[in-house]
Amino acid sequence: MGFSPEEAAAAIDRCGVDSSVLELADSIHAAQMAEEPDGTGWGYSRPRFEAAEGSSYCSARKKRRLMEEKRRLKRSCLSQRRGDYVKRSSMDFEDAPMVIPKPMIGFGLPYEKCITRRTLPEAAIGPPYFYYENVALAPKGVWDTISRFLYDIEPEFVDSKHFCAAARKRAYIHNLPLENRFPLLPIPAKTIQEVLPVTKRWWPKWDHRTQLNCLQTCIASAKLTDRIRMALENSSDPPTPRVQEYVLAECRKWNLVWVGHHKLAPLEPDEVEMLLGFPNNHTRGGGISRTDRYKSLGNSFQVDTVAYHLSVLKRMFPNGINLLSLFSGIGGAEVAIQKLGINLNLVVSVEKSKINRNIVRSWWEETRQKGDLIDLDDVQQLNGDRLESLIKRYGGFDLVIGGSPCNNLAGSNRHTRDGLEGQHSSLFYDYFRILDLVKCIMGQSS
Ligand code: SAH
Repeated sequence: MGFSPEEAAAAIDRCGVDSSVLELADSIHAAQMAEEPDGTGWGYSRPRFEAAEGSSYCSARKKRRLMEEKRRLKRSCLSQRRGDYVKRSSMDFEDAPMVIPKPMIGFGLPYEKCITRRTLPEAAIGPPYFYYENVALAPKGVWDTISRFLYDIEPEFVDSKHFCAAARKRAYIHNLPLENRFPLLPIPAKTIQEVLPVTKRWWPKWDHRTQLNCLQTCIASAKLTDRIRMALENSSDPPTPRVQEYVLAECRKWNLVWVGHHKLAPLEPDEVEMLLGFPNNHTRGGGISRTDRYKSLGNSFQVDTVAYHLSVLKRMFPNGINLLSLFSGIGGAEVAIQKLGINLNLVVSVEKSKINRNIVRSWWEETRQKGDLIDLDDVQQLNGDRLESLIKRYGGFDLVIGGSPCNNLAGSNRHTRDGLEGQHSSLFYDYFRILDLVKCIMGQSS
């Protein structure tokens, strides 16, 4: 799995010798997450090659019949262009590091002075609007490549700790206007003690955490919390500096909270839901296991953050929108838009996991949506013909949104370190392919 013997040994130490490989891998990922720098100084280089043609390949296409042929051609161009990017990017990565801005607030936060204007490259301008998300701390060069494909738009780096009580460092590339953004109300509390008041009673003075780290796809084992309990019981009160250091390191790695004397626990799925801005019980029931709840929640959008960026749509689309939601997961985008009070006239939701599709479908029914929800399972199967017939039938998409898998980039569910070319993360290219096709088809029919 690409881990060093030291990382493996430390994980065995933390989890015990009889732990499964998966448990050990999760533990290593969590340790890596905890060690990730806080944005400062972490950088990646901007390739200095000329911006590649960012516009739609197919603006000149006019005849329906030519489309298939060109699409075939386009597919081969895309893979060639993709190869070029990767080659050229990797040559230029070593110098001119680009630093992720700190504080990680993107174009600005609610009720604060914000950047309200920017000039977008012409090819980036919609329709449709688009919004792409992925982990901010991706391997070197990843965001350069993503940005080059997405019409040379600079990513907006935002840590959701400015929107809720947990960190979530993400970057967003979109072509939305920036003026008149507004937040969802009520504004969520931003400290652990406010959102989880029952923990206050047990919180020791020497644990100075006020916010949680990134909510992950897996949680600490019972063995670990038991080991911590024993370490605390065998120490003095307050514990020795060494024990404190050990306990705090595990608390940060695993987002443990105090639930009793010497008793730490991972967050409950309901608490994770609340922190991420989802309705209560959003991922609960209907045959979904706790493990799957953590997994789906760990991958999802932080609703308040995304809603803030999408809020500009409310004025523009008073009658509602048609949404193409790729990699929908548990419907972070759909929930954000609904919470903003924007009608969802049509949602075409593409999501591989049946568990997640069921969650979105249940939410759709529970919130008594009036529009149409069409769910599809694989972005790779979504071709021009299908898009064309959807666009013809519903009159186009107003927003194409999605955060493709980060399993090869970062996070507790990282499988490999292959970067954007990894098996899962390369699905970004399907986001681009589909967006470009939608632009092309909508451009033709307008
Ligand atoms: N933004 C989403 C989560 C995105 S995580 C949310 O708010 O919940 C990436 C999602 O892509 C995962 O849910 C994963 O199941 C899905 N996925 C992976 N491969 C896919 C594919 N080939 N087609 C569609 N979805 C896929």
